[in-house]
Amino acid sequence: MLVCRICKNTANNRIHPAREMMFGTRDKFNYLECGECGTVQIADVPDLAPYYPANYLSFDSNVPVAATLRRRIGARIAGRYLVSGKGVLGKFVAGKRPTLVELYPSYLRNYPLGIDLDSRILDLGCGVGNLLQTLHYYGFRNLTGADAFIEEDIFYPSGVRIYKRRLDEIETSFDLIMLHHSFEHFPDPIESLRQIHRLMEKDSFLLIRIPLINYAWEKYGVNWVQLDAPRHLFLFTEKSFRYLADQANLKVENVTYDSNAFQFWGSEQYVRNIPLSDPESLWNNPGSKLFAAGQMDEWQDEAEKLNARGKGDMACFYLRKV
Ligand SMILES: [Zn+2]
Repeated sequence: MLVCRICKNTANNRIHPAREMMFGTRDKFNYLECGECGTVQIADVPDLAPYYPANYLSFDSNVPVAATLRRRIGARIAGRYLVSGKGVLGKFVAGKRPTLVELYPSYLRNYPLGIDLDSRILDLGCGVGNLLQTLHYYGFRNLTGADAFIEEDIFYPSGVRIYKRRLDEIETSFDLIMLHHSFEHFPDPIESLRQIHRLMEKDSFLLIRIPLINYAWEKYGVNWVQLDAPRHLFLFTEKSFRYLADQANLKVENVTYDSNAFQFWGSEQYVRNIPLSDPESLWNNPGSKLFAAGQMDEWQDEAEKLNARGKGDMACFYLRKV
């Protein structure tokens, strides 16, 4: 019997055969779509090690801002303003340097998280810690990362600490815990949320950015680029993610949709049988001629319209303890 591992439903569940297309091995994996909560989940979790090769982290799309921006002092002053909205000088510097504002993570500004530059921040599934290095650049001082898949602990001169650690091995609590497109890789989502709950205090925030079952799944099915077989184990709907959070005594305070043109161009490539890592792929080759001029702008506009309607294929959830 086909059982949804999120809501236990057994009725009207469907199996979709999908292929590995990031590296283009085209190995086949079945995904189950729940007829009740809509979660799409891998039917059997395979040995995933071969699907995280050494170059996997180079697929990390975070921009290493620390390496590209030079004027550190300005960033610090602007950072104080960006995190709190306070400070005349910071406001002035931010006004003079729009790139500083653009590169500051919007999900930290879109919702009041009550954090300051001393807040204890954990990035779970942080890879080598590019985002934390970026936050350090803006003046955050208490930054920790954890990732079970890195080679070894990393201690940056900036003070950013990255531990090779599983969730259940982390013991201290944090003011803000963030998961940026890592939650969908966790084999036991409910247990993971319970473990995260353990690391939160009364006023702590949890920020989870994940792909979501939405318009792009309806349009592209198994060619949807964010299915990412077999690495993405669970693809939630907004409804099923809320249900899951509830099971872990967490409440969703806000949801912001943040999908972009990737849902279109990545999926269109898969329809054409072109892996993400293909030399012809837009991922490697920004000058690729795969798509007509202007197409990318149209897709970006379409993504923004989908986001406004709660139909984009990625969202940021803001959660607190019940
Ligand atoms: Zn279900």
